[in-house]
Amino acid sequence: MKLALKVIGGIALAIAILVGVLLWRTSQFGAKADTQAEIALPKPPAFDVAAAAEMLGAAIRIQTVTYASGDPKPGADQPWTDLEAALRARYPTVFAKMTMEKILTHAMLMTWTGSDPSLPPVILMAHQDVVPVNPGTDADWTHGPFGGVVADGYIWGRGAMDDKGSLIAILEAGEALAKSNWTPRRTVIFAFGHDEEVSGAGAQAIYALLKSRSVTPAMVLDEGYAVLDKYPLTGKPAALIGVAEKGYISLQITATTEGGHSSRPPRESGAIRIARALVALEDKQMPANLSAPPFNQMIEAIAADLPFTTRLAFANQWLLGSFIADQVSGDASANAIVRTTTAPTMMTGSIKDNVLPQRASAVVNFRIHPNDSIASVTQHVKDVTAHIEGLTVAPYEGGIGSEPSPVSSMDSEAYRVLEAVARSTGGGAVPVAPALVIGATDARYASAISKDAIYRFAPAIYDDADLNGFHGTNERLSVENLGRMITGYAQIMMALGS
Ligand SMILES: [Zn+2]
Repeated sequence: MKLALKVIGGIALAIAILVGVLLWRTSQFGAKADTQAEIALPKPPAFDVAAAAEMLGAAIRIQTVTYASGDPKPGADQPWTDLEAALRARYPTVFAKMTMEKILTHAMLMTWTGSDPSLPPVILMAHQDVVPVNPGTDADWTHGPFGGVVADGYIWGRGAMDDKGSLIAILEAGEALAKSNWTPRRTVIFAFGHDEEVSGAGAQAIYALLKSRSVTPAMVLDEGYAVLDKYPLTGKPAALIGVAEKGYISLQITATTEGGHSSRPPRESGAIRIARALVALEDKQMPANLSAPPFNQMIEAIAADLPFTTRLAFANQWLLGSFIADQVSGDASANAIVRTTTAPTMMTGSIKDNVLPQRASAVVNFRIHPNDSIASVTQHVKDVTAHIEGLTVAPYEGGIGSEPSPVSSMDSEAYRVLEAVARSTGGGAVPVAPALVIGATDARYASAISKDAIYRFAPAIYDDADLNGFHGTNERLSVENLGRMITGYAQIMMALGS
């Protein structure tokens, strides 16, 4: 009896200690995230947001739509010429102060040489092109997709958010600064690609040129994240700064077999081998890593706003790690930020219902987490399908894809300026968290000149309705957000460039 009591007492004590440790760790989790000294932001120059909204509308009416790599084709590039003319007409002061280099005909590289050219420059990016509107959906728009209408507090149309809003806001900020007689100490560069939505050849050429000039920037800022009005993990506002973006590779798995008549099928046809390979890849996903940057820093930064149970779980990964990994992997959006994703997309076999395929194949698209590489993904596919006979694995159409970007620094002056601008954009009280961008942006090409100073953020607040317009119907930018962006870009140039 006494022994049993002792054992029970011992277990109770152990549980109490365990609970104590769990709770203590939960209370400490994320506490150190907010200790960095906040940068005091400069007062932005005066600007006319109503006129800027009309200018964004005008830019939307100029249909710089790209459909395929190589766009715009020679002879079909009048909209790009028109856009440049419109920008020059509206922003004469900043165009006069900056030198312009046209790269691959329409990409713009603008340089505002600082008074101390030895300082690493600040590079602000945006792209001139937009995605098409799905045929047959024009009528679903509240205002026409290329009307550039300013109504109900919004500028409506394709490109309002992605990415003419940033293009116009950066130039508005530059014009306002130039007119106020501000001169940069650090060189300020604007890099405006012309074809981000198809291949980003413009940005690629711009960064190849800057690399040849040995330019090493203090900051490269492109699109990617913003302040989210409602962040899915917390249900509250959060500012996300993209510090890395995923890579991209499509691999084609091919099974070559004898073929023949389907009335006498072999035990394992090419189609079955491909099916086995896809199931094997589905069952054995690339590993998730919840304790690697930027995911771990993101969770710490938003810890205070997480529901208690979620915070407790993340604070105690030593005990609950596999439980969290399962939860995260079950959610498509969360899964995409913690691992390289595996997505079979195209499958081919025979061309007739009674003919066996001689070559069956599947294309699998991988979005590569910064923990992985094209080589490690390719090796993973070979390993996981090694037990299936007669398969070859090769890059789809010989494409080499793109490696994931390096993870940029969260300790730099550039990051602290962005953090201050992001917090101020969000009204002061929002958590600011580093994050992984899961799509591709022109910023990936900036890796040619920087391993640790590339960021993806627009100083705007987006709600769910705004985000639905991204590449979709009713893309729009609020006039208030345009004002925030002009303010934010001006403050970034002043805080870093003065
Ligand atoms: Zn974009």
